[in-house]
Amino acid sequence: MPITVTPIAGLSDDINDIRLRTARIVNEKILPNEALLWHARGSGVTEEERAEAKALRGEIQAKVKAEGLWAPHLPPEYGGMGIDFMAHAYMNEILAYAVGAASLFGVVAPNSGNQTILVKYGTEEQKKKWLLPLVEGTMQSGFSMTEPENAGSDPRSIQTTAIREGDEWVLNGHKWFTSNGLAADFFIVMCRVKESKDEEGPGRMAQIIVPTSNPGVIIERGIGIWGSPKSDHCEVRYDNVRVPLDNLLGQVGDGHRAAQDRLGAGRIFHCMNSVGQMWRAFDLMIERLLTREVHGGLLKEKQFMQGFVADSYMDLQAARLMTIHAAEKVDKGDPQARTEISAIKVFVPAAYSRVVDRAIQVWGAAGVTNDLPLAQMYLGARTLRLADGPDEVHRILIAKNVLHHYEKGESWDFAG
Ligand SMILES: Cc1cc2nc3c(=O)[nH]c(=O)nc-3n(C[C@H](O)[C@H](O)[C@H](O)COP(=O)(O)OP(=O)(O)OC[C@H]3O[C@@H](n4cnc5c(N)ncnc54)[C@H](O)[C@@H]3O)c2cc1C
Repeated sequence: MPITVTPIAGLSDDINDIRLRTARIVNEKILPNEALLWHARGSGVTEEERAEAKALRGEIQAKVKAEGLWAPHLPPEYGGMGIDFMAHAYMNEILAYAVGAASLFGVVAPNSGNQTILVKYGTEEQKKKWLLPLVEGTMQSGFSMTEPENAGSDPRSIQTTAIREGDEWVLNGHKWFTSNGLAADFFIVMCRVKESKDEEGPGRMAQIIVPTSNPGVIIERGIGIWGSPKSDHCEVRYDNVRVPLDNLLGQVGDGHRAAQDRLGAGRIFHCMNSVGQMWRAFDLMIERLLTREVHGGLLKEKQFMQGFVADSYMDLQAARLMTIHAAEKVDKGDPQARTEISAIKVFVPAAYSRVVDRAIQVWGAAGVTNDLPLAQMYLGARTLRLADGPDEVHRILIAKNVLHHYEKGESWDFAG
């Protein structure tokens, strides 16, 4: 079933135009070919099917570029659309409707997040060396922050160090869940920097670009997750890894802020992705309810199933409107935006899980097969409750911000 997209009253013509043109490519080129495009990456696929899928991906990417819809997160000087934050958020919702569509529009995590950070913090030299090849697709990258021995939900607890020795940084540390680690040519490593090994204190947080080919970068394993024996989320050891001082990205002490930059706006985009995927799961659920006969009638006639429709409708609408509301606050620079971001970061993945769970139930056994995107969505939705700050951390932030506000003598402006 194609995504239904019509112009939204009150949105600019530009944003509506981007939404409609994106939806056209998703509906005409990607949804009808989903099985070929992505299943051809799996095992048991012939060389011909693989080649056909590759050619089709190339054809769609060329069409996306010709339409000026390539890389919504990048400025035009790096081949991107140069669109504003709200346009990007609305575009994400439509891209997420079709599995993997974002990658055909030049948005592939963690490369896209690293590109954004390099645009913002990189020197001209760094942009030439790392950003351009990433944009051209001749290099891959990862973001290496989380450590097995320290709480990822408290990024200030990281202990990987980079100690200055002459004109080099020497890195030592242990990371895991560095996504895209098997393919990456370089990592942006979050670490604690010291000017010398005698410097007192834990060191200030910074990001350093580390080529994966450097001696001492040890990819210990692609960690098995969700029952798969291997993934590209890697455990990495940095054992006396030497890089030039020029590989420091931004200023020493910027590290935490840069990570928040990456995550703050990123959370809006991730929630819009979740909304797009909920929309797809909802449409799939309805499609099955209208056609599947059980016990002498269509599923749509059963009251339990009607309850699924009503509850999923409310989950989807609430998640979507909360996310758009949060995005508007971010866009206006409203100080309440931080609270709204935490609220959607908790609410949307949970609502997404509920909607996908119901869609799987409606589809029965077919719901857990690889023939439908639901099983993959189900695992993705659960993972989102951990990544980018687990639920509890965001609940704490919401409560802290709200209580602080009331303690100043003001009530919360819910209508603002
Ligand atoms: C699929 C996947 C991909 C990832 N990709 C990357 C990546 O590319 N790069 C990277 O650096 N990291 C990545 N991560 C790591 C992710 O960011 C961390 O897992 C996340 O930040 C949580 O950190 P942690 O796992 O150390 O959990 P911990 O910090 O140990 O927290 C465990 C649990 O404790 C609870 N908790 C935490 N704080 C509090 C509190 N204050 N009060 C009450 N309860 C609390 C929460 O329930 C939390 O889930 C990825 C993770 C996954 C699953």
